[in-house]
Amino acid sequence: MEKKNIDWGNLGFGYIQTEKRYVSNFKDGAWDEGTLTEDANIVLNECAGVLQYAQTIFEGLKAYTTEDGRIVTFRPDLNGERMENSARRLEMPVFPKERFVEAVTKAVAANAAYVPPFGSGATLYVRPYMFGSNPVIGVKPADEYQFRIFTTPVGPYFKGGVKPLTICVSDFDRAAPHGTGHIKAGLNYAMSLHAIMEAHRAGFDENMYLDPATRTKVEETGGANFLFVTKDKKVVIPKSESILPSITRRSLMVVARDYLGLEVEEREVLLEEVKDFAECGLCGTAAVISPVGKIVDHEREICLPSGMSEMGEVTKKLYDTLTGIQMGRIEAPEGWIHVIE
Ligand SMILES: *Cc1c(COP(=O)(O)O)cnc(C)c1O
Repeated sequence: MEKKNIDWGNLGFGYIQTEKRYVSNFKDGAWDEGTLTEDANIVLNECAGVLQYAQTIFEGLKAYTTEDGRIVTFRPDLNGERMENSARRLEMPVFPKERFVEAVTKAVAANAAYVPPFGSGATLYVRPYMFGSNPVIGVKPADEYQFRIFTTPVGPYFKGGVKPLTICVSDFDRAAPHGTGHIKAGLNYAMSLHAIMEAHRAGFDENMYLDPATRTKVEETGGANFLFVTKDKKVVIPKSESILPSITRRSLMVVARDYLGLEVEEREVLLEEVKDFAECGLCGTAAVISPVGKIVDHEREICLPSGMSEMGEVTKKLYDTLTGIQMGRIEAPEGWIHVIE
């Protein structure tokens, strides 16, 4: 298979249309068998459920080339499982996780020419999503849905080296208690756009959201989970019902325990104790871990001892080990690497 003539090293994070996408339609209570298509456009009725009441969910994962030349994805079964949970919460039909993995496999294999070569730092971003497609005007779930997967090549997250982020404690809330914070739904992102733009306008990279009920506990950012490291090298993960269960963060917890022999604690984390941590990072598919150097809480600045120039020591070890597992340099736990071809 001949690779596309793309300047892999200089790709950003934008949409580049690839040749094929996967589509399956839900109608009369059942999913059709699904197919690959070259048509990147969707024609919808003006009253489609997704357009009126935002009934849409999504996933995000990456396909990449390992050192030995295989095209793989990382734990796609967990994306499939999470999408099942997102669907249930929004009264959408479940697209079974086995079929999800099969569809990801087909979509990536069909666009193999767009999977960046090993060493480029770039990856093929895979975006599965589902939305209500038939006309809905009274407030109720749609009867018809479309599940799609498109792929787009994206550049390395840290161009020209890692740079710790400065984040601010947001005055906005991300997710209500007993709300939809734990599912990957477009609605959680729509309402975060104003908060992130305000943060950017004030010079910050990201928002730290607190629990809306008491505003004393750390939740997450708009699109990544927190990971903290104590001064005695314990990994601490905020626990809350309204945090999106990041696959990267869950994998890093296994890496910390089983590969690095570190103690891992998943518990409520108070904003008040953040000043006592040695390191802080944001976990998500895009960057694996982005180090945080500074957290600004209104007039108060919390500077992490790891500083503003590099990753903290434990964060770096976690990052190197997980990316080593993903790239095939370090043996992966059973089932973590899904080979496409
Ligand atoms: C997708 C997402 C994450 C990261 O999850 P991964 O599975 O690691 O990519 C974290 N927080 C939110 C709110 C998200 O939507």
